[in-house]
Amino acid sequence: MISVARSVTAACALGAALAACGTAGTPGAKPAGSASPSATRPPVLAPGPGRLTPVFEHGPRTLGKTVALTFDADMTADQGPRAAAGEHFDNPDLIGTLRTLKVPATIFMTGRWAEQYPAQARSLGHDPQFEVANHSYSHYAFTDDCYGLPTVAEDRMKTDVERAYAALRKAGVPHALPYFRFPGGCYDRQALRALSGIGVTAVQWDVVSGDAFATDADAVAQQVLDGVKPGSVVVMHCTRSAAPTTEQVVRTVVPELRKQGYRFVKVSELIGETNGRPSGGRQEAPRTARSG
Ligand SMILES: [Zn+2]
Repeated sequence: MISVARSVTAACALGAALAACGTAGTPGAKPAGSASPSATRPPVLAPGPGRLTPVFEHGPRTLGKTVALTFDADMTADQGPRAAAGEHFDNPDLIGTLRTLKVPATIFMTGRWAEQYPAQARSLGHDPQFEVANHSYSHYAFTDDCYGLPTVAEDRMKTDVERAYAALRKAGVPHALPYFRFPGGCYDRQALRALSGIGVTAVQWDVVSGDAFATDADAVAQQVLDGVKPGSVVVMHCTRSAAPTTEQVVRTVVPELRKQGYRFVKVSELIGETNGRPSGGRQEAPRTARSG
């Protein structure tokens, strides 16, 4: 898995290069709760000891064959000129394929991506097949030493997440979910503490697709198929420039997993199932994950 981690690392480092197709949003308008009267409040995990931000990695293993595909929409603050020069940090064909195949998915979107592609952000934010969640404002790391990404200072972390929610809202994502994916998947106790109080659940994954900068779609697809278990969360990207094989990977793994009896769900469904277990929400020891 080291090579996988490294390729993802490269993706994140160039992450500036990665424009994923994720989305972030607030439940209703406030991450902590006040969902609009008509909207169902999305499930979140209970905070950990000391009200530490809870971390979700995968759903229950024993409640049937469900799997959540997640797509990160990475974009850094300085990639605007590259986008203007024709580089594609979006991946409309991938989104189109997910729609054609009727695969529900969760998009972790940076605020910068929403600003760059507001029409797509709005479309995703209004499509019940998708849920849009938060991947920071411009893909800066929340720990030191995270694939060479620039870092957000501790006292700016909460503001960064809120700025992303604001950008999503402005772009037309009315109900971004109270889920946050750390850039690069890097977090520690300090980062979890910094985000406590805004009501987000940190969402990691248990299956690394390895799609970042991959050129062999079959190898990525095989890695996904080898890794998926009931309740799995798969991390992928929706940025053509940084993850050019992802649409083909989806075309391969979706029919195969369905043949195996898997049902595709959004992250919120897995979190809801997790909450429904007798043991309640998961509370994991903070650590630094490397990939994403
Ligand atoms: Zn990312």
